[in-house]
Amino acid sequence: MATYTLPELPYDYAALEPVINPQIVELHHDKHHAAYVKGANDTLEQLEEARDKEAWGAINGLQKNLAFHLSGHILHSIYWHNMTGDGGGEPLAADGVGDLADAITESFGSYAGFKAQLTKASATTQGSGWGVLAYEPLSGKLIVEQVYDHQGNVGQGSVPILVFDAWEHAFYLQYKNQKVDFIEAMWQVVNWQDVAKRYAAAKERADVLLLAP
Ligand code: MN
Repeated sequence: MATYTLPELPYDYAALEPVINPQIVELHHDKHHAAYVKGANDTLEQLEEARDKEAWGAINGLQKNLAFHLSGHILHSIYWHNMTGDGGGEPLAADGVGDLADAITESFGSYAGFKAQLTKASATTQGSGWGVLAYEPLSGKLIVEQVYDHQGNVGQGSVPILVFDAWEHAFYLQYKNQKVDFIEAMWQVVNWQDVAKRYAAAKERADVLLLAP
């Protein structure tokens, strides 16, 4: 029995048009995300085999593969729910996401400052990566992270609540080399209700590190 399974998309392939076309959504979910699920499961099996045989020659590569595929699976699982065809705009108290809006202002000074930082961090990834808004449990604040691949350049313990996939597979068929245009368009499909739900859940478990006040 596999440990990880590919989650269903919460909408059909065309739901994010015109920001993301159906061909990209289908390939991205059915092929790319599926590959990370398979990669994580395969790596766990290979680690089990290494333990059984006490054969540790490939341990470094296996641990890297586990971090890569597991992080890819987790980030994509968040990504699909972070978007909706009815999304966009600013998070507003009137829409029931006031706690999130307040946390953004408190952590970044202003919504505009936050938006500029996440846009820039996402659009300037070198090679493959993500721009991430994360809850950082030690400070109790939100931070932006620029993730390398799926797993690098991350503060331990931070919980991703809004993720922008900046890998070429996320946009190239539609936006070609214009990564910044894709990231700017992404703001039109952000599902603030989903982000607010993730923020509340992360804050609820702020003692996860047993370090936070
Ligand atoms: Mn991706």
